[in-house]
Amino acid sequence: MNATGAALHLYDGVDFTSLTWLEHKWVDWYIYMGNPVIATGLMSFLLHEIVYFGRCIPWIFVDAIPYFRRWKLQPTKIPTAAEQWECTKMVLFSHATVELPAIWLFHPVADSIGMATYQVPFPSWQTMAPQILLFFVFEDTFHFLGMYGSPHTYYAFSLEVPIAHSALHRGVLYKHIHKVHHTYPAPFGLAAEFAHPAEVFILGAGTIIGPLIYCYLTQNLHIFTVYVWITLRLFQAVDAHSGYGTYFPWSLHNIIPFWAGADHHDFHHMAFSNNFATSFRWWDWLFGTDTKYRAFRKKVKATKAAMKGATSAQLLEVEKKLQNAAEAEGAAEEALVVKSAAF
Ligand SMILES: [Zn+2]
Ligand SMILES: [Zn+2]
Repeated sequence: MNATGAALHLYDGVDFTSLTWLEHKWVDWYIYMGNPVIATGLMSFLLHEIVYFGRCIPWIFVDAIPYFRRWKLQPTKIPTAAEQWECTKMVLFSHATVELPAIWLFHPVADSIGMATYQVPFPSWQTMAPQILLFFVFEDTFHFLGMYGSPHTYYAFSLEVPIAHSALHRGVLYKHIHKVHHTYPAPFGLAAEFAHPAEVFILGAGTIIGPLIYCYLTQNLHIFTVYVWITLRLFQAVDAHSGYGTYFPWSLHNIIPFWAGADHHDFHHMAFSNNFATSFRWWDWLFGTDTKYRAFRKKVKATKAAMKGATSAQLLEVEKKLQNAAEAEGAAEEALVVKSAAF
C-alpha cells in the first residue's frame, strides 16, 4: 500500500458528509502528503511564515504612506527600506535555523502527549475560545517573568519557572542575547521576531509550552486550535511592534483597557525599561513596572493640554522632545546594564 492509501485509513469511520469546506481541505492535505509528521511539520512552518510576513505587509505600506504619520507613536522615526530589508534577512535566518527545526519537532511531541492533528471534525468554537484565552494568559505571564524575572517576581509566585531566572533584561543575558531585539528604539512590524536565535527559542517556548501542558493534562486539544492561537499571537506580536496602534480610534486597547496594545511595547523599545508583558497590562501594573510609562503618557498629555492654540507642528515638536529625553534616559540605563555584565 502506498503512502496515500495508508493515509486514507486515518479516516476510517469518518462521516465525510458532515464536514465543512475547511475540514475537507484538511483531510485532502493529510491524504495527499501521506505522512502526518511531514504534513503537520510543513503546514506549521508555512502557517507561521504566511501569517508573520502577511501581517507585516500592511504595516510596510502604512509606513510608506505619509497620511498615517498622524497615528505613528514616534512620528519622526520612520524605518527606511534598507532597515526593513536588513531586518527581514535576519528574521528569515532565524526562522530557517531555529524555528524550522523546532516546528518540525513539534508534531512528534504533540502526538506523544495526545494532541489531535490529522483528525476531523475540528472542535467547536465554544471549546476553542476558552483554551485560546488560557494560552494568551499563560504566554503573557511567561514572557513577563522571562523579561522581568527578578527574585521579587520569582518568590512572589513560588513558581518553578526556570526561565524567570534568565531575566533577559539583566547583565550577561541582556548584553549577549536580548540586546539584539532592542536594536530598534522605534520598532516596526518586521522587528517583532528580530532577535537573537536563543531569544527566538526561549520566547517561542512561551507560545507553545502552554498548549503542550494543557494537552497533557486534559487530553483535549486539537492542533487546529493551536494554529488559531499562534495566528492571533503573531498578530499581537507584529501589531505591538508596528509603531502604530493605540492612537487609532479602533485600537483593541480602547475596547479592552487591559489589552497592552502597541504603545505599551513601543515604550519598552523607546525607553528601554518598563512594560515587560506582551498581551495584557496587569502584570506590569501589579509589579509597578509601568510607572515610568504611565508618568510619561501623563506628561505628554498635560504638556499638550497646556499648549492651547498651538499648531500641530508645535505639538509634534514638543512630543518629539519628550520622547528623545525618555530615549536618552533609556540608553543610559541600557549602558549600565551592559556594563554590569560579568563578561
Ligand atoms: Zn526588552
Ligand atoms: Zn519588542
